[in-house]
Amino acid sequence: MQLYNSLTHKKEEFIPREQGKVSMYTCGPTVYHFAHIGNLRSYIMEDVLEKYMRFSGLDVKRVMNITDVGHLSSDGDTGDDKMLSGAKREHKTVMEIADFYTKAFFEDCTALNIKTPDVVTPATSCIDEFIRVISALIEKGFAYEAGGNIYFDTSKLLEYYVFGDFNEDDLEVAVREGVDADENKRNKTDFVLWFTKSKFEDQELKWESPWGLGYPGWHIECSCISMKHLGEYLDLHCGGIDNAFPHHTNEIAQSEAYLGHKWCNYWFHVHHLNTDKGKMSKSKGEFLTVSLLKSKGYDPLVYRFFCLQSHYRKSLVFSYENLDNAARAYEKIITAVSKLIDSGNSDETAYNTLMANFTAALDNDLNTSLAVTALYDVLKADTSDSVKLKLIEEFDKVLGLDIIPHAKELQRKNAEAESDIPPEITALAEQRKEARKNKDFALADSLRDKISELGYIIEETRQGTKITRK
Ligand code: AMP
Ligand code: ZN
Repeated sequence: MQLYNSLTHKKEEFIPREQGKVSMYTCGPTVYHFAHIGNLRSYIMEDVLEKYMRFSGLDVKRVMNITDVGHLSSDGDTGDDKMLSGAKREHKTVMEIADFYTKAFFEDCTALNIKTPDVVTPATSCIDEFIRVISALIEKGFAYEAGGNIYFDTSKLLEYYVFGDFNEDDLEVAVREGVDADENKRNKTDFVLWFTKSKFEDQELKWESPWGLGYPGWHIECSCISMKHLGEYLDLHCGGIDNAFPHHTNEIAQSEAYLGHKWCNYWFHVHHLNTDKGKMSKSKGEFLTVSLLKSKGYDPLVYRFFCLQSHYRKSLVFSYENLDNAARAYEKIITAVSKLIDSGNSDETAYNTLMANFTAALDNDLNTSLAVTALYDVLKADTSDSVKLKLIEEFDKVLGLDIIPHAKELQRKNAEAESDIPPEITALAEQRKEARKNKDFALADSLRDKISELGYIIEETRQGTKITRK
C-alpha cells in the first residue's frame, strides 16, 4: 500500500518493521467537551485506514490515549487548562467531566462504526510512567527545571524535527498564540514535561513527583503510552493535521531523545473539516456534534459516507446541503442493494476485476472517494446479483457503512408495508395479474388505475409485483 508519509513529504510503500504486523498509535480526544464532527472526521479516516490494513491481511495493534490532564488551550503551553475549564463550565470535578465525555466520545464512535482501538489508556492512569521517562530525560541532559516546571530542551537535539509544512514563522506563531509567553523557556520551541505549583494553583489533579506536587504536560502522554503498549518502535502514528506541530514534533523529540534511536516510521495526518466560517473548534463553544446531526434526522453513517467521499489529505467543507447530497446518495445505494437477489451464481473474473478496482483505490494513499466509485461500479456491473452482494459485503468491512444490514431492513419494511394491503386491493391485483397473463393490457391498465384511485401503487419489479400505499 502506498501511503503519504508526513515525515518524508511523499507517498511511500508502507512496510511495517515486522512482516505482517502493524503497531499503530492514535492521538485520542481531550475529554473536556463533546467531540465535534471535525474531530470525528479524523477518527473515521483513521478507522478506515486500520480496517483496510486488516482487510489486506495485516495484524494491527492499535493504541489510543485519552487526554484527561495537561492539555492547555494553546498547544504552546500557555492559556487555560482545558479540563479545568470544562469542570468550571459545568460545575463538576475534572474526573466527572472526563468520565462523561469519554463515554460520549465512544458513543459517537459506535454510531459512526468507528472500531474501539485495542488499547485505550487515559493519561491519568500512567503518571508513574511519565515521571520515569521525564527523570530519564533529565538524566540524559535533555530536560531542565525552570520556575518549578520541567522543560524539554530542544537545543540539545541534533535536529528538532518539524513536519515540512511548517516554517520558522509557524513556530513563532505557535508559541505566541497564547495569552502569556512562558518566560522560563530557554528556547522558543522548548515545551513543558511537568508542571508544578508554579502554574495553575487551582489545578485539581496533582501528583507527587521528584520535582514537587504537579501534573504532566500534554505531549509526554502520547510518547509514554505508545512505548508502554507498542514498545520502542512504532510503525504508524495518526492524528489530525493540527497535531503535527507542535504536538507530534514534540512527541518525536522526547521519544527519540529517550530511546536514542528513530521511533516512528510513518505519520498519517487527516486534514481539517471546516465550515463556511472556518475551522471547527471545541473551545469556541459552538460546534457540530453527532447528537445534533441525529436530532436533525440524519443517520450518523450518512456523515461517515460524506467523509469517505473526499480524500483525507484535503480539507473538507461541511454544509447541510453537502450532507443532504450525501444522504440522498447513501439512500440510493441502500435501495439499489435492497433489490439484489442472492441467486448463488458466481463469476470469479468479474469478482476479481471489481475487487481489484477497490483495492487499487485504497492502495493509492487511501483514496476513499475512488473506493466509493468502485462501489458504484459494482452496482452498475454486468454480473450476477450474488457477486455484487458478496463484493459489497467485503467492501463494507472497510467502508463501515452497514450497507447490507440497512438494505435488509429496507426489504423487511417493504415486505411489511405490502402485508398491510387490504384484501380488496390484493384481489384487484390478482385480477390484473390474470389480465396481463391473458395479454389483455387494456383491462390490466384500467385495474391499475382503479387501484391507484383507491390510494395504492402497483409496480412490476424484479422481485415480482409490488403494492405500496401512496
Ligand atoms: P482534541 O480532542 O482537540 O485533542 O482533538 C482530537 C483529534 O481531532 C486530533 O487528532 C485533532 O488533530 C483532530 N481535529 C481537531 N480539529 C479537527 C478538525 N476541524 N477536523 C479534523 N480533525 C480535527
Ligand atoms: Zn498525541
